[in-house]
Amino acid sequence: HGSVKPPPEPSPLRKARFFQANMRILITGGAGFIGSHLVDKLMQNVKNEVIVVDNYFTGSKDNLKQWIGHPRFELIRHDVTEPLLIEVDQIYHLACPASPIFYKYNPVKTIKTNVIGTLNMLGLAKRVGARILLTSTSEVYGDPLVHPQDESYWGNVNPIGVRSCYDEGKRVAETLMFDYHRQHGIEIRIARIFNTYGPRMNIDDGRVVSNFIAQAIRDEPLTVQLPGTQTRSFCYVSDMVDGLIRLMEGDNTGPINIGNPGEFTMTELAETVKEMINPEVKIITVENTPDDPRQRKPVITKAKELLGWEPKVKLREGIPLMEEDFRQRLGIPRKN
Ligand code: NAD
Ligand code: UDP
Ligand code: UDP
Repeated sequence: HGSVKPPPEPSPLRKARFFQANMRILITGGAGFIGSHLVDKLMQNVKNEVIVVDNYFTGSKDNLKQWIGHPRFELIRHDVTEPLLIEVDQIYHLACPASPIFYKYNPVKTIKTNVIGTLNMLGLAKRVGARILLTSTSEVYGDPLVHPQDESYWGNVNPIGVRSCYDEGKRVAETLMFDYHRQHGIEIRIARIFNTYGPRMNIDDGRVVSNFIAQAIRDEPLTVQLPGTQTRSFCYVSDMVDGLIRLMEGDNTGPINIGNPGEFTMTELAETVKEMINPEVKIITVENTPDDPRQRKPVITKAKELLGWEPKVKLREGIPLMEEDFRQRLGIPRKN
């Protein structure tokens, strides 16, 4: 009870596989935005075998097309709310819709994905002795009363609001991770991810960076939700993937904030996108949604000290990379 049990011994089969120096890695939600970039990075190491499990709710096979048919890659259509019986050495557990319009679309399913999905992946980790990393979120801090947010802050989350299925779902997922760690000795890693952007984001997923870039490219007004003074801190996806891998490979359970501390108001973000992509475009204000956090900025001291990680790509460097990808997918080339 209370005491930490040692992790289970690897089976003889798993040990045998280590002689081939292979690491078999499961990525749940690997057909999504962050997951597919993580696949790209992990596949670069010829010692890795990668298995993606995804139900394609918000992800797409298109994000993985370069790997389909590759001998070290496997793609499985599967919903993590159902049990999964496979043999792996590491689990990156990302499966969960991340954009508010998608996670609010079927909130009960969002809760099931976070709670039952995480329970199943922990059960799998326990059975095969795998290390498991959960992509939690800055949303566990809710509408924070402490600014900027470090990992010791317990958060200010509305338990019955429209965002709760996601926020509270991730909070329970973190609890499950620590209970499996304390009760069963599972090796866990928890990343608290702050707003991430980059190529392959869903174009119409309603998130602010994808909205503004798509709007600027389409010559549509940029929709700043009121009051416009609310802040976010945006991390480019390659930095995020680098941070997640360092966390997985390191010795710390976390939770560790992974994000870019550069903080912008939504009005500033709109002005930056306008200036960089389409100086002719209008900026308008529109109604906001309930429980929108007013400010968000990570303290990343832990990531710096424990993982030797800090973000490299500035917002002004990341926006053009994302613009390029969006123009290609929308079929709208740059003017002049
Ligand atoms: P995404 O929506 O692009 O990817 C999530 C993937 O999970 C999709 O491919 C989706 O089809 C899959 N999925 C959803 N429910 C599933 C289920 N029940 N079974 C199997 N697959 C399922 O989102 P993302 O931005 O890549 O986010 C990945 C992870 O990072 C999520 O856990 C999210 O909560 C977390 N996160 C993301 C951000 C961000 O800014 N993008 C911020 C904080 C946390
Ligand atoms: N589970 C899974 N794959 C496995 C092992 C377990 O999906 O390889 C699921 C299992 O169905 C259960 C959950 O993980 O719902 C938790 O498993 P655990 O063994 O911890 O608990 P128990 O099965 O004893 O409730
Ligand atoms: N937002 C905005 N215009 C949009 C979409 C979002 O001003 O077209 C604002 C939203 O009110 C919030 C911030 O951008 O304050 C970030 O929203 P997003 O949905 O991208 O992420 P999250 O709220 O999950 O951090």
